Amino acid sequence: PPLHRQRHQFVIDFVKRNKPKKVVDLGCSECCLLKKLKFHREIELLVGVDINGTKVKKKMHGLAPLSTDYLQPSYDQLRIELYQGSVTQRDARLKGFDLVTSIELIEHLTVADVERFSEVVFGYMAPATVIISTPNSEFNPLLPGLAGFRHSDHKFEWTRAEFRSWAVKVCLEFGYEVEFTGVGQAPPGQQETVGFCSQIGVFCRLGGRSGCNMLLGDDAEDVFSHTLLYSI
Ligand code: SAM
Repeated sequence: PPLHRQRHQFVIDFVKRNKPKKVVDLGCSECCLLKKLKFHREIELLVGVDINGTKVKKKMHGLAPLSTDYLQPSYDQLRIELYQGSVTQRDARLKGFDLVTSIELIEHLTVADVERFSEVVFGYMAPATVIISTPNSEFNPLLPGLAGFRHSDHKFEWTRAEFRSWAVKVCLEFGYEVEFTGVGQAPPGQQETVGFCSQIGVFCRLGGRSGCNMLLGDDAEDVFSHTLLYSI
């Protein structure tokens, strides 16, 4: 299957195993992953955030219930909310989630914004688990006809070591542990040398679901920076 499908399938498999109740997809774009996640009945709150409201609005009505959805006894459990907003800004409505996904998002941020993203996601939102995927630049020589980055909007593409060093720093700062994996296999014999096409970090908050927000003073005032586009 194409790589974007493999990345989404990775999230879906994780959801099947871990059964999160509250999930937010950062950089949800045209809500493709959210449309797949809405069929997972354990989820009670499904949220999408993207800085590009036009992209979000394009296909968001596809998230509305199908008539057959009402035949599912658990269907009324699900609430979906879509926001226009930047992942570099805090929004109190995104605190306390079980799972945050950020699929092919961080490479679109400047290095300064990646710092803000880390603080907002791991320090402020402080979810139980986070899945982050980003291109692995070591794989690029295997992509035919590629000169430079995989997409003109990418601000960087990290090697496995660069991704690891960012991830480990985040873990130390905000109290998480991380495991590395990926999707998109290299041809036999080259997997070790180049790694996966898309690298993935799965972060778990130390202390699990009961762990508390690491930063003091966060609850002093609630910030709402995002704009609600859709709620159903
Ligand atoms: N996650 C989707 C997927 O798996 O196909 C789409 C990834 S797309 C390559 C990157 C998305 O990140 C775009 O929709 C873009 O608008 C969004 N984005 C870029 N900077 C952002 C920011 N600061 N805050 C929120 N979303 C942002």
